[in-house]
This record gives sequence, structure tokens and C-alpha cells, in this order.
Amino acid sequence: MLATKEKNFHHYCPLCKKKLQIIHRGCNLETELSEPLLTTYSFQSMSEEYEYYDEQAKLTAVERFEELKEQIFDENNTLKIQVECTSKHKHKFYVIFQLTEDNCLIKTGQYPPILDFNNSLTEYKKVIKDKKIIRELTNAEILKTHSMGVGAFLYLRRIFESLIFEQFEIAKLENNIDQKAFIDAKTQEKVKLLHENGYVPDFLAEINPFIYAILSKGVHQLSEAECNLHYDALKNAILLILEEKATQERKKN
Ligand SMILES: [Zn+2]
Repeated sequence: MLATKEKNFHHYCPLCKKKLQIIHRGCNLETELSEPLLTTYSFQSMSEEYEYYDEQAKLTAVERFEELKEQIFDENNTLKIQVECTSKHKHKFYVIFQLTEDNCLIKTGQYPPILDFNNSLTEYKKVIKDKKIIRELTNAEILKTHSMGVGAFLYLRRIFESLIFEQFEIAKLENNIDQKAFIDAKTQEKVKLLHENGYVPDFLAEINPFIYAILSKGVHQLSEAECNLHYDALKNAILLILEEKATQERKKN
């Protein structure tokens, strides 16, 4: 399916820098492989008869697999899939797979790299002045694409905490917060204190309690699965704070 069926999808092209139709043409097979493998011809199928057909179907499956392999993979058992954007430039992207000796399909490469396809930060790059935040968000995304969930999550936590402290500094300047209470409080209460005085948007006060739970855990307590699970929620919370800040900035101007 991956290699043989034509597929169209709407996706971001990193070279056009916008979303458009992307086409994967698929390769043409010399033989069609559509008829079912397991068939019986009598209504009162005896178990011996069934076993015979079952055996035959297994043999056919092996033959078919070998045939398919020969048609799809090159002599080194490598498969290169090419997709193309539908702009006039027809930008081409490649993904390379290797079939191992025990018939596992593993991805060994791609061009352009995955991160180039991630445009989730593009619109924020224009409004966020703090380049350190952009850099750390980018680092988080890089680690996430390489399945390093804990590392990625720690970057997000750093950004989240520094944003909370930034808001605290503003509240302090405006004499609107009990400084000692804030310093002594846990992250969850810090957000609450800021919210009570209008320094963080409403959604943060309603945010998923799981985020709070995971934010208050020590580094050594974080599991990979937990970090992956809560990554998007925390990232969205950060992006919303940034958006709010950008809106306020615009109003001030
Ligand atoms: Zn393109």
C-alpha cells in the first residue's frame, strides 16, 4: 500500500512555505495481487480439507511476498518513496526504507528533514521577541521528533516556568502580588496567584490538572510515556500565553 497506491494529501511544503496538495504516485506492479488467498469449495468443509487449503494459502502468501519484494525493493532491499508538491516548482521529497533480513521495514532516511515540515512555530516567530524562547521551543520540537520525550518536555517546562516568572515580574512592578506567597508556592499555586490578579489568561486556571501534576514532578520521576502524553497540552499552553502576550503588546503599541 505504502509503495503501490497513489495518494494525495494536504500538507505543508517546507520549500513553498505553505500548505498544498502533495502527491505520492506509487509504483506500478506487474501483477495484480488482489484475489483472496484462502478459499474452500465445498459447503461441508472437512477439517482435513481446511488444513490443505490453509497450507496452500500459506505457501501462496510466501510466494506473493517474494514477488512483491522483487518488484518494490531494489537489489539491496531498499525502497525509495518519492512525493511531490503540486506547485509549479514540483518540489520533491524522499523517504528511504530498508527491508531487513528478517523482513522488518525500517526507515533509514528522508529529505528534507522532518523538522522542516513542522510549521507550527512559523506564525509565532513573527510575534515572539524573545529569541531564547524560540530557540528552546525549536529544541523541544527537535527532541520530540527524535522520540526523546523527557528532554523535549524539560525544555517546555523551562519555557513555561520562565513565562510564569516574567508575569510575576510584571505583577511585582505593579505591586499586585504577594511576593513571599508567590516564591513559596508550588507551580500550580503560582499560576493560581497570577490568575487571581489577572496576569495569566483564564484558560491556564482551567487547564488540565494532569499538566499541573506532571509540572510538579521531579526530573527523575518523569517517564518517557508521560512526557509524550502531555507534550502537546503543555506546548499549547505555552503558545497561548505567548499569543496573549503578543496581543497585549499590539494593544500597547
Ligand atoms: Zn513546494
